[in-house]
Order: sequence, then structure tokens, then C-alpha cells
Amino acid sequence: MNRAHLEWPFFEPEHRRLAQEVWAWARKNLGEHPETDVDRTCQRLVRALGEAGFIRYAVGGQAYGGAKETIDTRAVCLIREALAYHHGLADFAFAMQGLGSGAITLCGNEAQRARYLPKVAQGQAIAAFALSEPQAGSDVGGLSTLAQQEGGTYVLNGEKTWISNGGIADFYVVFARAPGSQGSKGISAFVVDADTPGLEVAERLEVMAPHPLATLRFRDCRIPRAQRLGEEGEGFKIAMQTLDIFRTSVAAAALGFARRALDEALARATTRRMFGQTLAEFQLTQAKLAQMAVQIDTAALLTYRAAWLRDQGRRVTLEAAMAKLTATEHAQQVIDAAVQLWGGLGVKKGQVVESLYREIRALRIYEGASEVQQLIIARELLKAYQKPEEVSV
Ligand SMILES: Cc1cc2nc3c(=O)[nH]c(=O)nc-3n(C[C@H](O)[C@H](O)[C@H](O)COP(=O)(O)OP(=O)(O)OC[C@H]3O[C@@H](n4cnc5c(N)ncnc54)[C@H](O)[C@@H]3O)c2cc1C
Repeated sequence: MNRAHLEWPFFEPEHRRLAQEVWAWARKNLGEHPETDVDRTCQRLVRALGEAGFIRYAVGGQAYGGAKETIDTRAVCLIREALAYHHGLADFAFAMQGLGSGAITLCGNEAQRARYLPKVAQGQAIAAFALSEPQAGSDVGGLSTLAQQEGGTYVLNGEKTWISNGGIADFYVVFARAPGSQGSKGISAFVVDADTPGLEVAERLEVMAPHPLATLRFRDCRIPRAQRLGEEGEGFKIAMQTLDIFRTSVAAAALGFARRALDEALARATTRRMFGQTLAEFQLTQAKLAQMAVQIDTAALLTYRAAWLRDQGRRVTLEAAMAKLTATEHAQQVIDAAVQLWGGLGVKKGQVVESLYREIRALRIYEGASEVQQLIIARELLKAYQKPEEVSV
């Protein structure tokens, strides 16, 4: 694969070294993977990625096993790009450790960080992020899981769905609201250990690109107050701050899938013969390949701009939304073009492009569907237009 983008000024020498390391590791350790037992594969991958030292980059705080004091967004993106290129489930296993523990890194107190983060970084504990509900996906403020305070405990009742790592996680960061509260106000975040009485896996969900996923049910699930993250009522802000980091990394994963699709397309187009020449010799094919390359570079520029800005300590709501929207939509088109170039073989089960076609689809939906990203971008634009003095330059 062409990795010329590593020369871009967004990166430090340590990022370039890390990218080489993760590519070499992925090539050596991530072969073909049967999708028969995703739970076990995922558990194995989390351990392997922890032992290889990569999950440390998705965790903040060196005292707690993190590679740095804060999450290194560029490192997370480079790792996701490389893992997605080689193995969708490996990317998922890595990403969920970060998303599932991100709220603890951002808002956990010392005891909470010390209890959870080192195990997450080493791949010894599996993390999950439980925000979505059957009636509240895009509309996060509509969530209805209740957290009723009773003395020194909170009692959780409700349902969470589409929870990645649901069923195999060791703990869930759960968002629930105070009784009587509405919208984004009154939501708090809690760390709930998977074996807490009153928490059950209500249903395992199967999707087109198999990943561990579940619906969780909370029935009078009592958790100590010490398990609350941040202040009471800060949950919505915590969820959005966590998503700001990992949204950019979804763009990086899409980029990895798209780069693999382009490589697969080049390999096929240059070897498949028809009408007396190779597929690549047709100008129609060249137009497709050119379009794919442009879509990939556009996505990469937006992704690493957002990652770099965040690593400078800047707020990246707008840039992360642009990166996620562009990278996921472009990757879908690039992968579709690769399937087309592969002809009938492109839809045959077990082909790389066939699995990429299934892998990419959910990325346009989770962590904010494309339409939600468009709304965020427009909102930020309008805000900047109407109150330019509040927008830093
Ligand atoms: C594979 C997978 C993994 C997931 N993992 C997690 C996880 O780990 N934790 C977690 O909490 N959640 C997770 N989710 C849930 C995910 O975040 C939600 O599916 C997503 O937010 C969309 O919510 P929804 O499915 O309820 O769709 P809905 O909210 O019903 O939206 C349906 C569609 O409506 C459109 N839409 C939405 N808003 C607007 C608008 N304002 N204007 C116009 N159109 C709009 C979009 O096209 C959207 O796809 C996961 C989902 C999937 C598919």
C-alpha cells in the first residue's frame, strides 16, 4: 500500500515509527479470520493488541497504563487505519477498548482510573460504551434509562441496545437519567461491572459484518455512588466529549477499509484480461481508479486534520464531523467500485472486497449517522456566522 501520507506535516516522528510498527505487526499477526466465533476471536484480539502495546494509545494517563497523559488521537487513527486495512474485527477490538474506557480517561477520578484503565490498556479487561436505546439512537437526549439515587447507591432501570462488546465486556460505561429530567439535562455516566446483579444481556444481535453486539437490560441494578463518572448531570457532555475523539477514529477505520479496497481493485484490474487487454487498460477503469484515489486522499486529509487539531488541544466538533462524514461515505463508494471491478467474484463470500462491503456499512450509521454529521457541520457553520466573536481562530 502507498503510505506517502505518513510524510504529511500532521505527524511527529513517533507517529511514523508507530505506523511502521503497527503495519508490520498486523501483517504478521492478522491473517485470514474465520467469522464463526466472533466472541472468542474478539477476546483473543483484545489480549494480543494489549500485549503488543497498541491499546495503550487509546487510554490516557501514563500512571494508568496509557502511552501518554492524554489520548493521542493521531496514534489512535494510525492504528485503526492499519488494523482496518488488515482485519475488521481487530480494528473493532482496538476501537472499543478506547471508546468503552474513554469516559473514564476523560472524567474518572483517580480510584476509577486505577481500577479500570491499566487492565483495559493491557487487554485484560474488555470495555463497552452503552448509550443507545431502542427509542433513542440518533436522538441521544431521548434516552430513558433511569438512575434513581437511593442513599449511597443508584438504582438503574431500562434498556440499552446495539452495545458493541455486549456479552463479552467486563464493564459498561452506561448513560442514564435522573427521574423527572428531560433532554440532555439530568443524564449521568456510570461504570457498571458486567457481573452486577440486575444487569443482564437480554439479546445477542447478529449483523451483516459479525461483531459482538447485544441488548442489555437493567432491572433494579444497584451500583455504588462511587461508580458515577464526573458530576451528576454531566453525562451528556461526557458522552459527546468521548465521541469527539472516537468519531475521528471511525473516519480512520473507514480510510483503512478504503485503502484495502483500492489495493484489491488495482490487483484485480491489472491481472484480469478481457477483450484482448487488462481491465486496467480501459479508460473507464482508469477513471474509476482515479476517483477512488481522490476520495481516499480527501478523506485522509480531513481525518488527520481533525486528529492533529485535537492533539493541539482544540475543540474539533466540526472537523471530526467533516472527517467522519467524508471518510465513511467515500469508503462506501470506493469499496463499491472495487466490488464492481472484481465482477462476479466481488460478491462471492470470502473475497476481501465482499467482506469490506459488509464491514463499511455500519460506519455510516454508528457514532452519529451521516445525516447527524451534516447537521453538526451546519450547526457549527451557522454558529460561526452568527457569532463570529465566539469562534477562535
Ligand atoms: C454495528 C453497530 C455498533 C454499535 N455500537 C454501539 C455502541 O457500542 N454503543 C452505543 O451506545 N451504540 C452503538 N450503536 C448504535 C448507534 O450509535 C445507533 O445505531 C445510531 O446512533 C443510530 O441510531 P438508531 O439505530 O436508533 O437509528 P435512528 O436514530 O432511528 O436513525 C435512523 C436514520 O435516520 C436518519 N436520521 C437520523 N437523524 C436524522 C435527522 N436529524 N434528520 C434526518 N435524518 C436523520 C439517519 O439516516 C439514521 O441512520 C451501534 C450501532 C451499530 C449498527
